[in-house]
Order: sequence, then C-alpha cells, then structure tokens
Amino acid sequence: MFTLWLVIPCYNEEEVLPETSRRLGGVMADYIGRGVISPNSRICFVNDGSADKTWDIIRSLHNENPLFAGLSLSRNRGHQNALLAGLMLAKEHADAAISLDADLQDDVGAIGGFIEAYLGGCDIVYGVRSSRRKDGFFKRTTAEGFYRLMRFMGVDIVFNHADYRLMSRRALEALSEYEEVNLFLRGIAPQIGFKTSVVEYERGERYAGESKYPLRKMLAFALEGITSFSVKPLRIATVLGCAAFLVSLAMLLYCIIQFFTGNTVSGWASLGVSIWALGGLQLLMTGIVGEYLGKVYMEAKRRPKYIIDSTLLR
Ligand code: UDP
Ligand code: MG
Repeated sequence: MFTLWLVIPCYNEEEVLPETSRRLGGVMADYIGRGVISPNSRICFVNDGSADKTWDIIRSLHNENPLFAGLSLSRNRGHQNALLAGLMLAKEHADAAISLDADLQDDVGAIGGFIEAYLGGCDIVYGVRSSRRKDGFFKRTTAEGFYRLMRFMGVDIVFNHADYRLMSRRALEALSEYEEVNLFLRGIAPQIGFKTSVVEYERGERYAGESKYPLRKMLAFALEGITSFSVKPLRIATVLGCAAFLVSLAMLLYCIIQFFTGNTVSGWASLGVSIWALGGLQLLMTGIVGEYLGKVYMEAKRRPKYIIDSTLLR
C-alpha cells in the first residue's frame, strides 16, 4: 500500500471543479477501499490565482472531506508553476504523485494503468494520447506541429504527452534539483531518467468552461520549450549567416563583372531585394540571440517560481 497524490492545477475552474472532485473522489475512494493506496492519499487542487470561486470551492471540499487538499498561490503564475508547486508539496507527503488537468480531459480511467506501472517499479509514467479525435482541427494540427517542431529542434520529449504523468517520490526529488526559472516540465521529465513507461489514454473534451490556453499562450509555451532545451536556433542563425555571407561573395563577383562590362545602372531590383532580405535576416537572428539572452537574464535573477498564499492539508 502506498500513498498517492493527485495534483491538479486550477485557474478559473469553478465550472468544472464540482464534477472533477466528484469523479476523482470516487476513483480515489475506490482504490483506498480496495487497499491499493493508503488512506493518507490526497487529491490536491492548486489554485493558480483564480479570479472566480475556485478557491472557495476547494476550501469547502477540504472542509467536508480531508481527502481533498488545497494549495493557493499568491497570484496567477501559469500552469507549469502551479503544477510544480503542487508536486513539491506532494513530494513531502506522497510516495507517488499524478498530475492532471482540472477539466477532465485526461481520462481518469488511466489512473489504474499508472498505479500498475508504478507498482511494477517505474519512477515516471507518461500518459500519452492515443488519438486526438476529440480535439478540434486547429488544436490538433497546431499541437502535433508543436511536438514535431520540438523534435526537429532536438528537444527530447515524449510525443503526444502533455502533463498527465505519474512521478515517484524519487523522481520528484530529482525534479526539485532542477532550479531553472523557465519551467517546461515535459522537457525536464525525460532528462531525469530512471525506469519509465507509457500509458495510453483517450483525450476527452473539456468538461465545461473555456480553454485557459489560447493560441498566444501556446506559442509562448512552445518558444519556452525550445529555448529552454535546445540551442539549435542559435546554430540555425549561424548557418543562415554563413549562407548569406556566401551569397554576398557571389553578389560581389557579379557586381564587379557588371561594372567592367558597363551595365552598372541595371541591377537596381536585385540591390533592393537583397537589402530587404539581409535586413530581415539580421533582425531575425538578433531576435533569436535576444531570446536566449532574455532567458539568461531571468535565470540569473533566480526569482521564486511561485509564492504560496495558503495550504489546506489535514
Ligand atoms: N491552468 C493553470 N494556470 C493557467 C492556465 C491554466 O493552472 O494560467 C490549468 C487549468 O486550470 C487546467 C490546466 O492548466 O487545469 C490545463 O488548462 P486548459 O485545460 O485550459 O488547457 P488545454 O487543455 O485547452 O490545453
Ligand atoms: Mg484542457
């Protein structure tokens, strides 16, 4: 018998929390009743600075039943930071923790598979989507494009695995050693090592409410992942710079030949085009370098990733 924690980041999830707590509560009570997990197991909701009744709901859940624990951050810090806050609390109390979304998109039926793999000796178990049929066309293409881009950029991530994942206490302790401020958990997990396995599940639809991950946040997240785990964009910048230099050498030769054959006025178009092309390329490359510089700047400050307002645990 081991102690299992479920860690659920919640940002403005008042619409889904009553149903989520009901379903997860049922699953946990079932495993506790069958003696698979200890009665000290908890469902920990992390309130990521919600502006709605999310924290009130978590508080009343906790008052009714100690199975529900709560953690409230001082303000909205984003999904990854909220998740880390919950996992770090779980590390102190649990033998293993499973992270999942509040909106029930991560099929709770897969928890059995996670437990089995953990009991079989795995330290990290990845939940992987077997299909994305329930996602809209836009979400599906952008999300799969995201994983392909990450792979192309040399980031070691598990395809179609988001943050539905079991981690043992050992793995959580390893995770706590990663002190980076720019968090991209699904990139860190494969770097931890240990014995891992994969559980497939079908990703459902959001139970209620709207996605808290609009396109803007998704793009920022992708950029975060790439620049946190890969220096390939810098290399691409170098390669493009070299290529542009070679082209300019060819252009120089061409200009000299044109000069000696007396065709100096023509060539206005090629000149105009190359100014724009090279100018654009230079701005892009400076931008890439700036992205990394910004990252170094944020890391150098070592600011806390989250600040805990209050904890509900008994
Ligand atoms: N979330 C969070 N902080 C944020 C944004 C999202 O804690 O700033 C939580 C949210 O409550 C949910 C999970 O992260 O439990 C995933 O968000 P969502 O379901 O909106 O993303 P999607 O499934 O659309 O990618
Ligand atoms: Mg969702």
